[in-house]
Amino acid sequence: PAADNRDEDDAIFPDLPPLKRGHPAVHLREGIMNAARAAEAHKEDAEQAFFVADLSQVYRQHEKWLRCLPGVEPFYAVKCNPDPYVIRLLAALGTGFDCASNGEISQVLAIDGIDASRIIFANPCKATSFVRGAARVGVDMMTFDNADELHKIARVHPRAKLVLRILTDDSKALCRLGLKFGAPLATVPGLLAKARELKLDVIGVSFHVGSGCYDSSAFADAVMRARSTFNMGAEAGYTFNLLDVGGGFEDGNFEETASVLSDALDRYFPDRNGIRVIAEPGRFYVSKAFSLATNIIARRAPMDDTEDAVSRAEIDAEQPRVMYYINDGVYGAFNCILFDHQTVHPYVLSLNGSFHVPSSEPLHVSSVWGPTCDSIDCVCPVAKLPSSLRVGDWLGFDNMGAYTVCAASQFNGFEVSKVVYTTGNAGGHEVRDALKAFAAEG
Ligand code: PLP
Repeated sequence: PAADNRDEDDAIFPDLPPLKRGHPAVHLREGIMNAARAAEAHKEDAEQAFFVADLSQVYRQHEKWLRCLPGVEPFYAVKCNPDPYVIRLLAALGTGFDCASNGEISQVLAIDGIDASRIIFANPCKATSFVRGAARVGVDMMTFDNADELHKIARVHPRAKLVLRILTDDSKALCRLGLKFGAPLATVPGLLAKARELKLDVIGVSFHVGSGCYDSSAFADAVMRARSTFNMGAEAGYTFNLLDVGGGFEDGNFEETASVLSDALDRYFPDRNGIRVIAEPGRFYVSKAFSLATNIIARRAPMDDTEDAVSRAEIDAEQPRVMYYINDGVYGAFNCILFDHQTVHPYVLSLNGSFHVPSSEPLHVSSVWGPTCDSIDCVCPVAKLPSSLRVGDWLGFDNMGAYTVCAASQFNGFEVSKVVYTTGNAGGHEVRDALKAFAAEG
């Protein structure tokens, strides 16, 4: 159900889907209307689920970042959502990029006007061919946390600017990364000695407190450990000039995190002359910017009063009585439930075909399922939804921008939900101006 009424300036990037004006809620509805029209015309994708991406929300997150953390340069973590418009907008706004692979590096470098110096290859364990590929395209800044990586880099990218990823406390995060990455401080002197022996240039330190960090104090502790690592660097004969404070930023507690982080930087790095501080935020930039509209394609409910009475007597009143099946699930956009430990909350976009959803509507306990034939494909085990909700109605989900569409599969032959782009409430002039200026420069 892609939008079809283009504005004149929608050809800012002709290779991308059109940008639209207006609030995302309007576009959810407009997308649904388009679907309804397509249904009348007997088009096959009539009820397809779709995202609405509000680029002005990404813009506002960037403003918030600059306001709260003016001394910390954001390198957007592409893995979180490599959406082409998000990447181009952030490129236009001047951020750097954290890439995890050569695929991501190629995607970023394919954008006119992006220099390789705006990329950090922030994967401490890279294939040799990827390190060689990075050298070829001029991406020098990269992380490591083990000696084998140093040998590999010395062989194929001896000019690299290395950033030592240290282990920090990730126990206050939804997704812990320390199980897999990060050098314990006890191993740092040995690693730095090896780097010197191999004549490698180590320029600084990075950490990641874990993705979805709900306790800001983790950042203070991590900065303290980074300070110790800087001191070890000096003992090993290096003068570090880069501190990378990683990702993990959440919109909900961002102001507090920014304040804790700024205080820690002032305390442990009081004189930051000559030290560049960067970060790798992902979720913070995109989570709120994407909503998803899904269609109820099937329903299993008690067939009549008798069955209802029987099943009601047999089961607990809090147990879901009606099962709704929607056309995106955990193998698609809702993979965030499995991989990113999220819970999602549906809201009713249409009821019995109408967008006027009365607030007085009686609710019943229901469950919401994805479209595949697998029973793990449960989107919401318990949800209170109106009892008159039927097949063909639409459910919406907010905060669907982080770690969703990027990891969606086509399992069972279902397509990945497409994105409709909007520039938000006030017409998103800032977004358009930034993109136009960038397109003109490019
Ligand atoms: N940097 C690295 C190395 C990561 O692995 C991740 C996420 O896994 C991020 C940055 C982005 O983290 P977040 O989305 O929590 O900001």
